Amino acid sequence: MNTNPLDRGSIEQNLLQADTAALLLALVEDTGDDVLLEEYRPYISNPLTLSEDFSEEARQRIARLVAERFVGGGLRGESITSAPDRFRRLSEEAAQRHVEERELDLFRKEMGLLEDAFVDWAGERPAQTDQYRVIIVGAGLSGIATAIHLKRMGINFTIFDRYDGAGGTWLVNTYPGCAVDILSHYFSYSFRRKNDWTSYYSPQPEVLQYLREVVAEFGLEEHIRFGTTVKSAKFDEGTQRWMVHVEDRGGGAARRGRVLRVRSGRPERPQHPRPARHGPVPGAGRPLGGLGPGYRCHR
Ligand SMILES: Cc1cc2nc3c(=O)[nH]c(=O)nc-3n(C[C@H](O)[C@H](O)[C@H](O)COP(=O)(O)OP(=O)(O)OC[C@H]3O[C@@H](n4cnc5c(N)ncnc54)[C@H](O)[C@@H]3O)c2cc1C
Repeated sequence: MNTNPLDRGSIEQNLLQADTAALLLALVEDTGDDVLLEEYRPYISNPLTLSEDFSEEARQRIARLVAERFVGGGLRGESITSAPDRFRRLSEEAAQRHVEERELDLFRKEMGLLEDAFVDWAGERPAQTDQYRVIIVGAGLSGIATAIHLKRMGINFTIFDRYDGAGGTWLVNTYPGCAVDILSHYFSYSFRRKNDWTSYYSPQPEVLQYLREVVAEFGLEEHIRFGTTVKSAKFDEGTQRWMVHVEDRGGGAARRGRVLRVRSGRPERPQHPRPARHGPVPGAGRPLGGLGPGYRCHR
């Protein structure tokens, strides 16, 4: 068996697992040839799902063409950002809709074409920043991202989370088959991309593991107060500070902060199906499974 990873056949086999629409657009971008796009445009559908509308023959043909180009050294390797109009046009083909100018930078970030994935000061860091403390509620995906940007900008912050670990949704939902239901790619931050997801729709443990790695890598643990619930928050006009009442196992305490960022998510706790009040319950007598807060179990 040929195990050379650059063997055309094995590249082709691996490409067959990729999103055909994405491959097609990459090929069109690289060759500058729109003929294939014209031929297969009707099969590009929802950009958030695998392109299941392509026939098996089309999938194989596109994978083969990309593999041939790759092995033949034909890839131009030029950044598409050097042709803004073409970037917009192909983005619209991918999204299957009009794309606003302001969305294009987001797309570039997602594609790893922009270096400045971090928020930063426009000029010097203002000295009064030292007086600031930001209180973040929630150590889920959004709280973690907020904290990382603040840390890089040198702004003090504390995260409060009622759970004993980071991850939010991905910490507490552990039911069998729990997985993301949009591309795994969207679950890695633009500033800390993960390109080796094991699956198109990654399972919960993998997302949680990624989030834990990010928390450790950016040194966030020391800023997080786990097992601490924010019970109330009130803005004090006099001091121009938020007065936040928190409670942990040791009791309650008041915390003050200049800015409050609520990153407490939506219901992340698993909901168990409730039997109907009247009439026969379908499947009565059989054990019921908790399927998470309304999300599908698995793809
Ligand atoms: C099974 C499942 C699959 C999902 N799949 C997708 C998907 O494919 N794509 C997608 O976009 N979204 C998906 N979601 C939605 C998911 O909620 C988001 O992906 C994301 O995790 C939300 O992150 P978050 O940080 O905003 O909120 P959460 O992950 O909910 O984190 C909020 C955190 O705030 C904490 N918190 C809340 N209130 C308080 C308080 N008063 N005091 C202290 N701490 C508090 C919670 O403990 C929690 O840790 C899915 C959700 C589930 C359950």
